[in-house]
Amino acid sequence: MGLLSLGTPLDWHESKKYNEHVRHNGITQLINIFKQHFNRSNDQFLWGDEVEYMMIDIDPINKTAKLSIDKDYILNDLNDSDKSLSKSINNNILFHPEYGRYMLEGTPLKPYNGNCIDEYVYVEKNMKLRRLISTQELPKHIKPLTITTFPRMGCEFFTSPPAKPIGPASQSLFLPDEIINRHARFPTLTANIRKRKGHKVGINLPLYPDKFTKLLDDSIPKDRQLFKSDKEPWLGASKPGHIYMDSMGFGMGSSCLQITMQCSDINEARYLYDSLAPITPIMLSLSAAAPIFKGFLVNQDVRWNVVSGAVDDRTFIEKSQEPYPNFKLFGGLDVNKNEILKNNNYDLNEFGDIKNVYSNDGKPIQRIPKSRYDSIDNYLSDFKYDTNYFKDEYNDLNAPINKKVYDRLSKEFPQYFDKYLSNHFAHLFIRDPLVIYSERINQDNELSNDHFENIQSTNWQTLRFKPPGLYRQEENISFKPGWRVEFRPMEVQLTDFENAAYSNFISLLSKAILKFKPNFYIPISKIEINMKLAHNVNSIINEKFWFKSFEDWNLDNDEFIGYDFSWFDRFLNLGNDLLNNDNEVYLKGYSSSYSSTTNLSQMNGINGSISKKNCSNKTIEKINDIDDYGMDQRYTIDDIINGSKDNKFPGLIKLIIKLIAIDLIPNQKHCQDEKLELNLIKLRYYLLLISKRAKGEIPTIANWLRLKTINNPNYKHDSKVSEIINYDLITDCDKLTDLKDRKSVESLFGNVITDYLYSEQYFNTF
Ligand code: GLU
Ligand code: MG
Repeated sequence: MGLLSLGTPLDWHESKKYNEHVRHNGITQLINIFKQHFNRSNDQFLWGDEVEYMMIDIDPINKTAKLSIDKDYILNDLNDSDKSLSKSINNNILFHPEYGRYMLEGTPLKPYNGNCIDEYVYVEKNMKLRRLISTQELPKHIKPLTITTFPRMGCEFFTSPPAKPIGPASQSLFLPDEIINRHARFPTLTANIRKRKGHKVGINLPLYPDKFTKLLDDSIPKDRQLFKSDKEPWLGASKPGHIYMDSMGFGMGSSCLQITMQCSDINEARYLYDSLAPITPIMLSLSAAAPIFKGFLVNQDVRWNVVSGAVDDRTFIEKSQEPYPNFKLFGGLDVNKNEILKNNNYDLNEFGDIKNVYSNDGKPIQRIPKSRYDSIDNYLSDFKYDTNYFKDEYNDLNAPINKKVYDRLSKEFPQYFDKYLSNHFAHLFIRDPLVIYSERINQDNELSNDHFENIQSTNWQTLRFKPPGLYRQEENISFKPGWRVEFRPMEVQLTDFENAAYSNFISLLSKAILKFKPNFYIPISKIEINMKLAHNVNSIINEKFWFKSFEDWNLDNDEFIGYDFSWFDRFLNLGNDLLNNDNEVYLKGYSSSYSSTTNLSQMNGINGSISKKNCSNKTIEKINDIDDYGMDQRYTIDDIINGSKDNKFPGLIKLIIKLIAIDLIPNQKHCQDEKLELNLIKLRYYLLLISKRAKGEIPTIANWLRLKTINNPNYKHDSKVSEIINYDLITDCDKLTDLKDRKSVESLFGNVITDYLYSEQYFNTF
């Protein structure tokens, strides 16, 4: 999670003197990056995943499961050439630090080649090796599990060894500082967020209302008098009916699954970034895995708003919130005008600046609607790409910008920064740097991008547009990473099978988007609404999400017919081929003479009248699901993923299946080699997992964990997750991770996928 420089991180009160320096030089570095890479093209579609693990100490004798906070040495060992580094490297793996001392992050060492089908299937093998190697480094009772949130994080004695929540970095009433990574960056980050903000972060999640739930968080200590901030919950930080969390670790201590893809050039990357934006809430909902926080079942299924709140460094004035009594409106900012702004009575200009109020270094104080960890606020526009679908009205959020940065980019370097790119970076650069290293204040802006990355990588949004790095003139930049898009909303899944499936889904979908060039643009405010919906319990089946009307995807549905799951069966079997005469050859799984062939449509259950590109007959049951322009509608995730029931519109999965068929496999009628067959079967099951979750046929992890809790004999229907329930949940997760217990596996995946996971076919892909 961000840049790890070596050096001495400055305390906020020191570091804030350099805020403008970092921003100014960061933008100089960005300009240099554009000078060096703006015109690069034809980069390969390479991609990679990041999986975050929690090391959990499971004690079957005392029936406890705790976050292990003293085994972080394994991370050093796994990166030490005298110790286990060779194990990682020989297996094409790299381990990285994460926020929690109990966390590990694992990635492939080299990116996957997105043009090669074997590499998609290899992902799971790589993930399995990461688990194996990290497990080998740990004592037997400690497991690296991929759970999104630790159920009893912040309850009494949730760490091994135990530690007390009395730390000065977070000042948390619940989380000891010993859970924070030892690298000085992380405690400094924690403390600087609090110091800038002028109070602690405060996250309130609605309690899950069960029969005997008391609608109050009774875990907040009433009488601690260690820090001034101890009073905050009683001054308005904690809300009735909600559980209250007060520290960065509650969010950044969660685990997720992220995917980064390299595009061929900057314009393709902009189109991909924009096209993935409406997919972000859909994947948050589909990957939901976090129904429990701080020992309570909550009335939501995902981690997103918790991380968002956990690194929200905005002051009261920036949030437009009345300060707690005796707390500072401007937090830790030095403001040149100590004017009291009564009742938030101030004027804003068009950039979100509060008129005539500046910090000492001349930066306007702004009204900032969102945390620096949140969904994206602007599309980048595809107007320079062959699609050119973007319209200005799609960027309809109030996203303040740093006017100085905007002017510098757009006026001085208009050849690189059109108004959308200038706006994008000017929006990211409204933020202050959170950690500055004293040794890194002065940098060579021709060669270092640290100042740029300082701001860029602490804007933790649903997507990240990643420019390349800076290199010496003599280096061949075509071998260095190019323009990339990172997909960040997904929650990590329990098994490598699922994490590989979700990773593959996003990378294949991205490749399909670049191949078929659909128009997915909707006003970005609707994506914002979808992000909120995605938090709801079982949103996957209970909610409808705004999405581009299928009629307006600018795809011809005819061209996707046959590319459903039956395509795999046809391609992997000979049968169909033998049934037809020469004119009806099932070329690569579908008929080459489709338009004159009625047989095929009958076989697929499709009637003769197929919808045409951009047809205007809307097929909506509910009028209030359509927006004023009729361009976007609310759909179920099932429709979006699996296609509409009347087969008039392809879902996202058909785009992927067609991509596999025409781009990733050899041009032949039927599969002719065993390895390809095994690979295709595996990809089919990955897609089936997503498809079945979208249909609600199998549960999300959040749903599975919620039900496991509610059905636990020790559960008292009071929304509380006791130590013994926590132990049962973690041991269930552990069993599932290793696919040890078939019954458990079936309860998450259903029979069909479980049969596959226990088959030789699956086994033989490793
Ligand atoms: N763990 C964080 C999350 O759950 C993300 C940290 C990162 O950006 O690597 O979203
Ligand atoms: Mg990470």
